Amino acid sequence: MTETAMKDSAEQAADALGWDASAQETIAWVAENFSTDQVAVACSMADAVLPALVADRMPGVDVLFLDTGYHFGETLGTRDLVQESLDVNVVDLTPELTVAEQDEQYGKDLFARDPAECCRMRKVVPLNKALEGYTVWFTGVRRDESPTRTETPLVTWDETHGLIKVNPLATWSFDDLVDYATDHRVPVNMLLTNGYPSIGCEPCTRPVAEGEDPRAGRWAGLAKTECGIHL
Ligand code: SF4
Repeated sequence: MTETAMKDSAEQAADALGWDASAQETIAWVAENFSTDQVAVACSMADAVLPALVADRMPGVDVLFLDTGYHFGETLGTRDLVQESLDVNVVDLTPELTVAEQDEQYGKDLFARDPAECCRMRKVVPLNKALEGYTVWFTGVRRDESPTRTETPLVTWDETHGLIKVNPLATWSFDDLVDYATDHRVPVNMLLTNGYPSIGCEPCTRPVAEGEDPRAGRWAGLAKTECGIHL
């Protein structure tokens, strides 16, 4: 499929699905128009709702996990559980440098001095490389997560990565997510309902207080709010 055809396809889907189609309707559009090997699901392993929903229509789909070397043990445990319990293929995306190698070349705890560079090397570059092999990627971005995400579309052309980006959970609330996981026995990171509504690398994630923005615990105290993946 040419880039022009992919862009047209994304625009048609955005028109057809509108602003608030259900996650299942959005995923169905992808399943009807693309084969499973053209599709990837990005997953931070905060929960497995998105991989579970996509696997219902596209069993065996690739689930991309950014294995930064800085994750909570609970997150790695969720990754293992997702691979064991869902009909998906978890793909660990690792940075070029191990944490030890990065410490040696850039100094210890780069995340505290230059989180943008740390995220670039450990998240953005590995994801960009991995996405080159796909036509469509799913993300779990929701409009309720932060003021920067309120305009998240269901389907869009992702100029940065040159592929179609699909956000089936854009309309969901945090409670919708937890309720779905509970009702359908979908794996959830134990931290999610214990003060961490948004979970990233351990050194850059703190719990949030009641009423705080769900992503307030990410890079707390710094101007940074996104890792550079969802631009
Ligand atoms: Fe580094 Fe923090 Fe970004 Fe993880 S979230 S890659 S530790 S700066």
